[in-house]
Amino acid sequence: QLEARSISAWFGDHQVLRDVSLTMPAGRVTALIGPSGCGKSTFLRILNRMHELVPSASLAGEVLLDDDDIYDAGHRLVDARKKIGMVFQKPNPFPAMSIYDNVVAGLKLAGIRASRSEKDYLVESCLQKGGLWNEVKDRLRAPGGGLSGGQQQRLCIARSLAVKPRILLMDEPCSALDPTSTRVIEETMLELAQEVTIVIVTHNMQQAQRVSQQCAFFLASQGQPGHIVEHGDTDAMFADPIDPRTFDYVNGRF
Ligand code: ATP
Ligand code: MG
Repeated sequence: QLEARSISAWFGDHQVLRDVSLTMPAGRVTALIGPSGCGKSTFLRILNRMHELVPSASLAGEVLLDDDDIYDAGHRLVDARKKIGMVFQKPNPFPAMSIYDNVVAGLKLAGIRASRSEKDYLVESCLQKGGLWNEVKDRLRAPGGGLSGGQQQRLCIARSLAVKPRILLMDEPCSALDPTSTRVIEETMLELAQEVTIVIVTHNMQQAQRVSQQCAFFLASQGQPGHIVEHGDTDAMFADPIDPRTFDYVNGRF
């Protein structure tokens, strides 16, 4: 499981998150919801140490992956990257690279070497898990940029799976896609969730209900940094939220 403990975050002296604690249990999908600018993407990037790549960024708190703080001095960045994959809003395969090489690139980014037969096996299994294999198995040498948007996003999911991550972070993975591709990716996620712990940011309340078992509502209001207003079981939170602001948000009144 992945656990954020008392996370606060700043860009320069602008505080964007305050005391965010959230446990993301293994084998479950956690959805992060909330209005624009409340710090969801920042929180997600903190979970795989991308936050520290911004020079002005600073951080307090801990991120524990199975009780091991990924920000500990002894914990190397590349190890965090192998364990925690990420998929972004805009599909970003390497467009000129083949479908096959895009998946293999996931390994190279994490500094893992593999033989030809290991790569062949990996490419097939990752594309299977990404829900793309049947569509591309006859054209693995075609460029990744030639796929449709939804296929490109599934290629990115397959690429992120190449290092066999424990956690997959997804920042609005469907917001650039049509409804059909969105449903295909949601089905892919539900399959994947059996072996990978998924954390997804979404503005789509129906999607949060379809894919997640646990949900956290973030808010930054009246000059306050982003924080979690409430979190818990997704069905309960949508059916009977505790905080009136959560009720308004999940019912589209924000
Ligand atoms: P959205 O739903 O629009 O994606 P979000 O909840 O993901 O919003 P963030 O992108 O995490 O919000 O931004 C939270 C706050 O941090 C915003 O005030 C934003 O302007 C600020 N911020 C984000 N990234 C940076 C950065 N690299 N430098 C400075 N400020 C930043
Ligand atoms: Mg965002």
